[in-house]
Amino acid sequence: LYVDHPLGAGQSVPLSRDQAHYLFGVMRLGVGAQVSLFNGRDGEWRADVAEAGKRGGVLVAAEQTAPLRLPPDLWLLFAPIKKARTDFIVEKAAEMGVARIMPVQTRFTNAERIRQDRLQAHAIEAAEQCGGTHVPEVAGLQRLDRLLDDWPAERRIMFCDEALAGRSSALTGHFAGGAPGPWAILIGPEGGFSEAERDRLAALPSAHAVSLGPRILRADTAAVAALTLWQSALGD
Ligand code: SAM
Repeated sequence: LYVDHPLGAGQSVPLSRDQAHYLFGVMRLGVGAQVSLFNGRDGEWRADVAEAGKRGGVLVAAEQTAPLRLPPDLWLLFAPIKKARTDFIVEKAAEMGVARIMPVQTRFTNAERIRQDRLQAHAIEAAEQCGGTHVPEVAGLQRLDRLLDDWPAERRIMFCDEALAGRSSALTGHFAGGAPGPWAILIGPEGGFSEAERDRLAALPSAHAVSLGPRILRADTAAVAALTLWQSALGD
């Protein structure tokens, strides 16, 4: 269970109404039961139920059962698409392990705004599902061109360019020997990237245009494929 509260031996952790409903109503736990907790900072903790009520409750952290496992220093930049598909991308990225999820507005992005709080809740749920101890931060929607204006030189970009579909420009071609350090993956919207964006990225020394194979993938499929490729070529 994710809690937005410090965790340490003997630390009392108050529960929200929803959390109490889940633990005591749905899971039918009572006082004395054990619950596994994480807050994205202090690793995983075993906690005991000290108070159980309909509208709240209190857990007391007892011992750390796993240290904080940080994901690779990888950001996922993607252009938000339809709601359900955007949710899918955030969920899968959190499951697969990224440090930061950054929705970006590109020339052909249709979404004008995102529900950052809802997407962050999806990331928390996904981390809970897969037993993670870290939750990636979901950033607010930012314009890609502005982001590239201040792009940190040391952070490489795996630029997934649909124009390269079917051409031999796989990630492993660039980085057969590995490339440690910070990375970002960039996935475009349904309409793909504009020529101006392509030119801009081509002029950025840290950006490397790659192909995800011979077929044009849907953006949500492309995000999962890119994460998998990056992890198999460069992850540890
Ligand atoms: N409308 C575009 C077209 O017809 O060429 C397709 C865009 S695709 C649905 C969405 C995004 O997924 C692309 O911008 C790119 O980032 C990524 N993508 C999909 N297939 C890809 C491939 N074979 N190689 C590299 N990137 C790909």
